[in-house]
Amino acid sequence: MSLATTKSSEQLEALKILYANTSHGLVISIFVSIIIVFGLNFKVDQSITLGKSVWLCTILFTLWLRYLDALYFKTKIRKPEPVNIKYHQCRFSSGCIITACLWAIFAIVFYDASNILETTVITIILSALAGGSVNVLSGHRFTAIIYSAILLIPYSTFLLFTELYYLQVLGVLGLSFSFVMIASANKSARFTLHSIRLQNQNEHLLQEMERKVEQRTEQISRLSNTDPLTSMPNRKAFLSKSQQYIIDNPTKSFALFFIDLDMFKQINDTLGHQVGDRVLKETAKRIENASLSVPCKCRWGGDEFLLLMPYQNQEHCSLLARQLIATISKPHPQLGDHDWLSATIGVAVYPQHTNDLSNLIQFADIAMYHQKRKEKGGVAYFDDSLQHTLDRELLLSTRLKTAGDENALRLVFQPIVNSQTHHISSFEALLRWQLDGQPISPDEFIAIAEQYGIINDLGLWVFEQACQYVIDFKLVERKLTMSVNVSVMQLQDKRFITKLRSLLTKYQLSPSVFHLEVTESIFAADKAHFANTIKTLQENNFVISIDDFGTGYSSLSNMLDIGVDIVKIDKSFVQNMDKRGLSVINAVVNIAESLKFTTVAEGVETQEQANTLTEIGVTHLQGYYFAKPLEVEEVHSKLAS
Ligand code: C2E
Ligand code: MG
Ligand code: MG
Repeated sequence: MSLATTKSSEQLEALKILYANTSHGLVISIFVSIIIVFGLNFKVDQSITLGKSVWLCTILFTLWLRYLDALYFKTKIRKPEPVNIKYHQCRFSSGCIITACLWAIFAIVFYDASNILETTVITIILSALAGGSVNVLSGHRFTAIIYSAILLIPYSTFLLFTELYYLQVLGVLGLSFSFVMIASANKSARFTLHSIRLQNQNEHLLQEMERKVEQRTEQISRLSNTDPLTSMPNRKAFLSKSQQYIIDNPTKSFALFFIDLDMFKQINDTLGHQVGDRVLKETAKRIENASLSVPCKCRWGGDEFLLLMPYQNQEHCSLLARQLIATISKPHPQLGDHDWLSATIGVAVYPQHTNDLSNLIQFADIAMYHQKRKEKGGVAYFDDSLQHTLDRELLLSTRLKTAGDENALRLVFQPIVNSQTHHISSFEALLRWQLDGQPISPDEFIAIAEQYGIINDLGLWVFEQACQYVIDFKLVERKLTMSVNVSVMQLQDKRFITKLRSLLTKYQLSPSVFHLEVTESIFAADKAHFANTIKTLQENNFVISIDDFGTGYSSLSNMLDIGVDIVKIDKSFVQNMDKRGLSVINAVVNIAESLKFTTVAEGVETQEQANTLTEIGVTHLQGYYFAKPLEVEEVHSKLAS
């Protein structure tokens, strides 16, 4: 607070004290003036009576004006506008000075009409008034001093020049008293000012403390509601704000967007967490800018963002969602050439889908997840069938965890044959699951095992079973191999190779008996990392096969870079050989020789397909034409024949 403001606030406080004391002062003044006029009226004279009446009217009028002034001041300070302190001080002082002058005039003018007793009483009254004013007027030093001075000095001086010794003594006493009163008024005014100052200081300290406490509270609440990385509201803030927003708009419908970044994990893994953080910050900024009118938004966690907004219709929602995806997918300077950041959005609508906020978020999440599996970078709306999908996923994932112990899992084996001789060269181990007697398709349960983190244990179980069947089928003696499917997630496990090696040691088998089939989707993720893992597996004498080639992200140049041992051409090409399929198979075969990998065509169902593929130069064939996946006993009889 500046010096000037401090001073004026002190002056205002002093003025308030002055006006607060006014009513007492006025009551005493009225009382005394009436007493003095009517009580001391010894000498009855018409002109004097008239004079006294005029004086009484004048002083009562003055006191009434001062009373009005006090009321006016009270109404003024109640208003928010600043008070003109000098102006009010001036009005107040004028009132006091006029009153004091009227007292002094009374004493001097009616001196002749009063006897010694009256003169003494008047002197005493003036002294008493001066004495009283010391405290009552202590809010303004000048007024307090001048009031006492006017009351006592003129009249006491006047008495000094009278002829009566007694009155002269009275004059001397009056004068002396006036000096004492002036000194007291001065001291009392100082004291009052000092008290006001102390009180102000205390108030300032208190205000300052309150301000700091408020600031701190605000800061704490801001921090607890803000995501530290992106400065967006966090999960907690979003939930409470959305809850309130829904309560405040009971008749409205709302759309919840669940935004999840695509490929963010890969950015983190390949370019490091610092780059990942910068990308998240930038993405949050883009989302904020693209959703300025959206009332509730947050970073939900990791690479997930939520928006809650009034729902108009599906077209409007889809438009907004697509705009958001387009903004998020714009090149990020932090990513250099890696322009693969995009987002997938799931939408759920309140109250159509649910009237519970946490369910709404879950439904939008399900829709997003569903869309992600179908096609990244798109928008999906929740519907009841998705809920059924989720329920089934949950059931399957729970039951899959215990399927091994319940003896509900088994392997079947599909032969892979040499295209020239049609002799079996390998068996592909394929997992089967019977849930309460019902077969579940591997395409369905393998995906669930991957999503719910069961695949590592499941894959290891398959590999151990495969080891046992290598021995059971005497594949090493027969110079045959066992192909085992390996999920991308297994390759991400740092201890994967160690785990395989310890099983091989347990069953005393060589890694070269195994062909590890990995799907080419691995190339969609971090190519360098997987190339490394594959290389390590090859160095450990495992044979690496790329499964379902042509359906995913890999290209022949990937094969060149990584140097795989076998390429399994996906059955979709075999079954479409009359169209584009043939040219793809031709291309693979042509390059196979120079890159030194073997080719397998999957899904061969007819003799015609088998013949064409053999003519083109595919070295191995697999499909129903040769054999469907076989049960263990069937493999035994097949091998025996
Ligand atoms: P995949 O590795 O490409 O296996 C070949 C799939 O093609 C098998 O389906 C097989 O039954 C089917 N198939 C073979 N010949 C023909 C044919 O002539 N015509 C047609 N239409 N289909 C044929 P399945 O057994 O349903 O397996 C599906 C996928 O599940 C497998 O594709 C593989 O990716 C995955 N899978 C199966 N077992 C395992 C496993 O133990 N681990 C992992 N990670 N994945 C597995
Ligand atoms: Mg396979
Ligand atoms: Mg395949």
